[in-house]
Amino acid sequence: MEFGEFCDRLIENTDIVKLISRYCSLKRSGNTFKACCPFHSERTPSFTVDPIKQLYHCFGCGKGGNAITFLRDIESIETIDAIKMLADEAHMELPELTGRSAPKADKQKRMRLYELLREAALHYHENLRSPKADIANAYIAKRNLPPNIVTRFGLGYSIDSSDAVNYLKGKGFTETEMKEAGLVGYNEYGYFDLFRGRLMFPIISNLGQVVGFSGRVLEKTDRAKYYNTPQTELFDKSRTVYALNLLKKRRQLGMIDYIIMCEGQMDVIALHKAGFDTAVASMGTALTYNHARQIKNYTDKVYISYDGDGAGQKATLRGLDILRERGLTVKVVQLPEGMDPDEVVNSENGVEKYRKLLDEALPLTEYKLKKLREKYNLEDRDERAKYAAEAVALTRRLDNPVETEEYLRTIATETGYDMNVLRRQAEIAPPDEEPKQEKREEEQKKESMDKNEAFLLAAYIADREYVEVGDMNEIFTEGFGKLVVDSVTDSRMRGLKDVGAMLYSDLPEEFQQQLTDIVGFDFGGMDSREMYSACVLQLKCERLDRQRDELMKRYDESKDPSLLIQSMELQKKLKKLRRDGGSK
Ligand SMILES: [Zn+2]
Repeated sequence: MEFGEFCDRLIENTDIVKLISRYCSLKRSGNTFKACCPFHSERTPSFTVDPIKQLYHCFGCGKGGNAITFLRDIESIETIDAIKMLADEAHMELPELTGRSAPKADKQKRMRLYELLREAALHYHENLRSPKADIANAYIAKRNLPPNIVTRFGLGYSIDSSDAVNYLKGKGFTETEMKEAGLVGYNEYGYFDLFRGRLMFPIISNLGQVVGFSGRVLEKTDRAKYYNTPQTELFDKSRTVYALNLLKKRRQLGMIDYIIMCEGQMDVIALHKAGFDTAVASMGTALTYNHARQIKNYTDKVYISYDGDGAGQKATLRGLDILRERGLTVKVVQLPEGMDPDEVVNSENGVEKYRKLLDEALPLTEYKLKKLREKYNLEDRDERAKYAAEAVALTRRLDNPVETEEYLRTIATETGYDMNVLRRQAEIAPPDEEPKQEKREEEQKKESMDKNEAFLLAAYIADREYVEVGDMNEIFTEGFGKLVVDSVTDSRMRGLKDVGAMLYSDLPEEFQQQLTDIVGFDFGGMDSREMYSACVLQLKCERLDRQRDELMKRYDESKDPSLLIQSMELQKKLKKLRRDGGSK
């Protein structure tokens, strides 16, 4: 059976009324059913389900579709996973896309890994009762976390290198499985718990499954403060929003007016404790379309509550634009200098203080204007002109003319320019002012070269024996990374000793600073074949992922099933890559 045909049949075989009534209470109204929309906040029902056409539509927010899209959006999962879940319920066998895959074995393996991670989370949590966990309990006490919060977030403690490994072995899991779940590493002494000595925060999917962990150091050490599960078959931070599982429960209590997006787990926990129970966090990556889509399923309004100047970073601002492009209203919370949300709510009258900060949060454009203003001296005529030009360009991204007028008026007051001049300027600003998404993600990558990429380039320059030239060429396909790789390869082929000096003379001036950062890269604990393979795997997966995101976005717009199939093929590739590891 063709895949498209299969989906049609699946939709036919699914009782859409039964499916949707698990999420909201449907009332019959003539030939259709009505409810308050589960996707947006409303008091009078504008969400309609047509049991004959097997479709739903909301006249309030415009969401609509079939059983597959409904399940996908309400659970914030991938289309293919929604299809799998519905197929399971309808007892239908998913058609094989390529001959050699074994979906059943795959599924069984995933179930094993979920089970393993669940057991691990329970064990770490149980560890808090052990006298060996004094240091973790001291930290919990210092942060003033009451038992109900510790339980709600499932906090735990990894005692040492072998405790959890032995426990899981006793439960019948193999070390290979533990490695696949991203829990253990391997060195000359054998398998060891990657999170040893850390306070554990389980990361839980929308469906309530533990998919990974984030661990915080408790002692002074040169190890990173937070360590996250590496990319695995189950865990992918570019698609993970921490505490989203709690949001799902929260929605059952009533509409979610807004969510608060923080930087770290401790911020989320502190805010929940203070009563802000819609706080979530991204897992230390720039926000992606996938994040935006998941958030959009709960609410239309997001407060960004990053530390100090966190939201002002160029890469972060782009992430905020992505949220806005997905139709979310974005406001930026301005925390007092040097404080994070955790510190604010824990200070005197912290809850009121934080509520006030939410009230005073700036709309995204206003926030950007403010940042821009800080860059220029408006007393100076030339700088004032530059400010006006850039500020006007910002307003072009608004799609509401009233709002645009208001911003232009602000700019006019600040700069003394005539409103008509600014309006004309706004009209003649180049139409391609807003770069395309793909382009912007590329730029974003270039500016904030991530640590993995920096490590690979540094290792290549330093001629580490574990580096494979093939990987380098595959990963660095443009920009700075490609220039470095090409230049190093070239120097090596010519037998040059001092590759660094060659690089400096090869690379254009604009890249010199970046190059200096790479040449001076601090390998720390990363300098190993194992880390290398993990990084290569991660970067290859990230690239495939971006392609898949793009396909899904196009599918959302055009509903062209061939895009869905292409995306599934990519998903297969990704899975295979994750199973077989980074190098061939
Ligand atoms: Zn709606």
